[in-house]
Amino acid sequence: MQKQFQAESQRLLDMMINSIYTHKEIFLREIISNASDAIDKMRYIALTEDTGMDINNFEIILTLDKENRTLTVSDNGIGMSAEELEKNLGTIAFSGSGEFSRNLENSKDNNAEAVDIIGQFGVGFYSAFMVADKVTVISKKYGEEQAHKWESEGVTGFTIEDAEKETVGTDIIMHIKQDGETEDEFSKYVREYTIYKLVRKYSDYIRFPIKMLMPHPQVVEGSDPENPEYEEVFEYEVFNSMVPLWQRKKGDVTEEEYNEFYQQKYGDDTPPMSVITASVEGLVSYDAMLFIPKRIPNKYYSDDFEGGLQLYSSGVLIMENCKDLLPEHFNFVRGVVDSPDLSLNVSREMLQHDRQLKLISSNLEKKIKAKLEDLLKNEREKYEEFFKGFGRQLKVCALDDYGAKKEALQDFLLFYSSTQKGMVTLAEYVDRMKDDQKYIYYAAGDSIEGIDRMPQTEILKDRNIEILYFTDNMDEFISDMFRNYKEKPFMSVIDGDFDLGDEKDERIDVIFADTFEFIKEALGDKVDTVKASSKLKSHPVCLSSGDGVTFEMEKYFTAVNPEMGVKAKRILEFNVDHDAFLAIEKARKDDEQRAKDICEILYNQALMIAGLPIENPSDYTTLICKFF
Ligand code: ADP
Ligand code: MG
Repeated sequence: MQKQFQAESQRLLDMMINSIYTHKEIFLREIISNASDAIDKMRYIALTEDTGMDINNFEIILTLDKENRTLTVSDNGIGMSAEELEKNLGTIAFSGSGEFSRNLENSKDNNAEAVDIIGQFGVGFYSAFMVADKVTVISKKYGEEQAHKWESEGVTGFTIEDAEKETVGTDIIMHIKQDGETEDEFSKYVREYTIYKLVRKYSDYIRFPIKMLMPHPQVVEGSDPENPEYEEVFEYEVFNSMVPLWQRKKGDVTEEEYNEFYQQKYGDDTPPMSVITASVEGLVSYDAMLFIPKRIPNKYYSDDFEGGLQLYSSGVLIMENCKDLLPEHFNFVRGVVDSPDLSLNVSREMLQHDRQLKLISSNLEKKIKAKLEDLLKNEREKYEEFFKGFGRQLKVCALDDYGAKKEALQDFLLFYSSTQKGMVTLAEYVDRMKDDQKYIYYAAGDSIEGIDRMPQTEILKDRNIEILYFTDNMDEFISDMFRNYKEKPFMSVIDGDFDLGDEKDERIDVIFADTFEFIKEALGDKVDTVKASSKLKSHPVCLSSGDGVTFEMEKYFTAVNPEMGVKAKRILEFNVDHDAFLAIEKARKDDEQRAKDICEILYNQALMIAGLPIENPSDYTTLICKFF
């Protein structure tokens, strides 16, 4: 007798039959997860009652019939009675699919959203109709004599009748659809290899063996050993590894196993730098196994990069790239989270799930932070290697949202130190600061060597004051955004106006006021101010920019877009003890043109030292030749 699906089921079924969802392959995960649930129930009875059943014989068998285009999933679980077949497969009152369907209701007008829900949550038995145009279920319930057959072609409803079945359990026979628009859209589901891959991908850690007959080439007995003949022999092969690595006791898993798992799963030919495991029982229980890669994954710094962790519920994959589990700044971490609290059966309540995810995510963030801190302290080389690859991500995130993540990230950044000749943290710098040192000094430039040669760094180096060398064009944006670290302000050695606590001779500006005015007039608009410098030792001049846009920022923005016209102020600073300055003083009295020429030459030198283009190279060389 033909029976109708309950209205809600009908809607869900329609959705599955006409599904535009691209990952139809998840149907197998759903059917296998039901089989596993049914075995769990049977196993419980076998363990608690005297059934005489062998509890080591539970298994899920997959069978392909290419001729008839069927894929069958068989289990020796608890089975279903006729009433249960009708109730469980004809209505969705109990199953998680109900939740899905209600969600669907809410997002009716939004197909994209609906599609997303399919991917994220278990949608249950009906997902078989994404790939099958007819589904036959033959089941024998534990404790009953009679087996039954449930069958449906979808919309028309379903039938239930008596059937023959020897053993307790359920066979789900899916009659695979003919290929649709895309070639091989469905035919692939009657191929061994596809099924093997899907089991590995989605159901690897189901706790019962998932087996299928697989062809193995074998030499035909009695055939010529020189020129052997082969035949295909079919043997059962277990596809899944059954025990998740992350559920095994930590000490039981070897480094090789972690490495192999990581490399195979993430297609990385290098073992991970660090493994982080967590096994938490409490408000939310979960196991987590995280990896910090040694090398940047392909496309890491591109939009194509898909971060996130794999989310499992008791060994069944729910979501491939769950981004909500990681903060953006740690998006390079790979791994797996498995929580029995996140039921495959689409949650009682989506909201509750969110809260659980948040809790897990904040615990994971703490774990990752602790790991990085540990590396920083105890395995410095490793950390520096890590920072080379992923430091940029930390910096980008430190700048995000106007530095909202400053507190969280500032201690993970490294900069080159002039005194340590290596990478240091801000904390280490501040620890080494002299009692009377007010600032965290830094100098930005293209390379360590380049910065090292800058005249402005000479005096500080002479006095053994540590300078951070900012060679990454993001560094100065960071100091600009942070303003200070532990209340110590950042100070640019090149652009800033600072004194080193020396007794400044107040008279200098007065004594040389005339000369500075002369130089300013000679150079006109090219410079904003001319003044005596306290930063120079053996060099005659340098440029600084004061507050605001720095030279490195000017270079950066000009490279990005010259039209923007971002320009730093040009403050020309003179070493008044230098012969060159004395030469200007002297020439002013004897030969004004010569004095102007010297100003021009020194200005151009200052530009070059700052790494800025000189305005007219040929004029400059002509000018120099005048002095020969
Ligand atoms: P859920 O698994 O979330 O409950 P499904 O739509 O996947 O929802 O399955 C509906 C119900 O059908 C299950 O709750 C279960 O009672 C029954 N069922 C499905 N497959 C099997 C099976 N292989 N053996 C026994 N019962 C099954
Ligand atoms: Mg299910």
